[in-house]
Amino acid sequence: MTFEDLGLSADLLANVAREGYEEPTPVQAAAIPLVLAGRDVLAAAQTGTGKTAAFVLPILERLRHHGNAAFSPARHPVRVLILTPTRELAMQIAESVRTYGRSVPLRSTVVYGGTRMDPEIRTLWAGVEILVATPGRLLDHVGQRTVNLSQVEVLVLDEGDRMLDMGFIPDVRQIVSLLPKSRQTLLFSATFSDDVRRLAKEFLRDPETVEVAARNSVADNLAEVLYPVDGRLKADLLIHLIERDQMEQVLVFTRSKLGAGRLASYLDRRGVNTSAIHGDRSQAERTRALAAFKGGFVKVLVATDVASRGLDIEGLPYVVNYELPYEPQDYIHRIGRTGRAGASGVAISLVSPDEVDELRGVQRLLRRAIPVQVVDEFLPDPDREPEPVRRFGRGHGSAAPGSVPAPASGRARSPRPRRSAAAAGR
Ligand code: AMP
Repeated sequence: MTFEDLGLSADLLANVAREGYEEPTPVQAAAIPLVLAGRDVLAAAQTGTGKTAAFVLPILERLRHHGNAAFSPARHPVRVLILTPTRELAMQIAESVRTYGRSVPLRSTVVYGGTRMDPEIRTLWAGVEILVATPGRLLDHVGQRTVNLSQVEVLVLDEGDRMLDMGFIPDVRQIVSLLPKSRQTLLFSATFSDDVRRLAKEFLRDPETVEVAARNSVADNLAEVLYPVDGRLKADLLIHLIERDQMEQVLVFTRSKLGAGRLASYLDRRGVNTSAIHGDRSQAERTRALAAFKGGFVKVLVATDVASRGLDIEGLPYVVNYELPYEPQDYIHRIGRTGRAGASGVAISLVSPDEVDELRGVQRLLRRAIPVQVVDEFLPDPDREPEPVRRFGRGHGSAAPGSVPAPASGRARSPRPRRSAAAAGR
């Protein structure tokens, strides 16, 4: 399957080629023809599968005939509304719309909370055909009558499962009530929970289902490893692994904002260049932290689940779960930051004995065990913590640490990420 087979115009194909994409990813191959045909689509695709192009390209194709150079805002009504749960994701989608649509004369913009509304209002008043928005900020604009949604032809609900988790559905419902009933609706979600299916029933009409990755699966170019660790030694084990495996770019997840800030300053004090990204930081601070990380100026980025949502860092080689998430689904979201289209990655979990329940939840969701490795000096102390290491072996078939076969390159070496030629060349 090539992009040429999908029914896109030559200029869109050229834009895609310019990005270095050689062939469509599975979700693109499956979804693009359906969207072009005007169908509603429910697609299960985790971040990193190329899902943004899977909806942006066919939407551009379908609506390009509306493009015009008229000055009047009335000639540029909002025709495409893309709702997404976080600011970072909104920014990235808007960027993708610009990139993939550089040759298409449709105007686009993005609105999200945490920034001044005035510049957004000026752009909206001038007229845009494609609007990317977080739900709360869009409702602010609706309240101020700075946006009119009565001519929307296509609605995209991105990261549906996350919208649910973050409690955005009432906002989404209110927004949908302002849209024409006759429209095309696309719902993308990393996972298909029953709640997501209910959402599809509510908002989509006779949808086609696209399910390319197996249910609740993780990308297969991703190596996972679990290190049992004494809770008090986690930060030191992390530093040890960063040094031992010469990690240059590591995204580390903590459960709380406080934990993220604390860990970042500890790592910084210990000479590991680190930045943090969490909900208490301003949009400008988050953007700066992300840019520094992407640019290689900081080695480690510590993030909370909410703040990390939608981070697109191409070919990120390492993701570390400093603490396992309370919600097993978040494990899949987190490690979806690595092993993205083409590049391979390593997802490391540092698990202390008090996290056995969370581990069990994750392994139950994955329906398999995460391979265990040990670094002796960081193991939980059996005298202080009763029944420590053995507990990792119970339940779902994960090997007890002591019984883990030594990797060829040495017992304590974790897998190293590999970049495919295609990914490295991007
Ligand atoms: P997404 O899932 O939309 O966040 O995309 C994940 C990453 O894959 C982005 O960095 C895209 O630039 C990249 N990508 C999207 N489509 C392709 C493709 N067909 N071939 C290679 N990379 C792609």
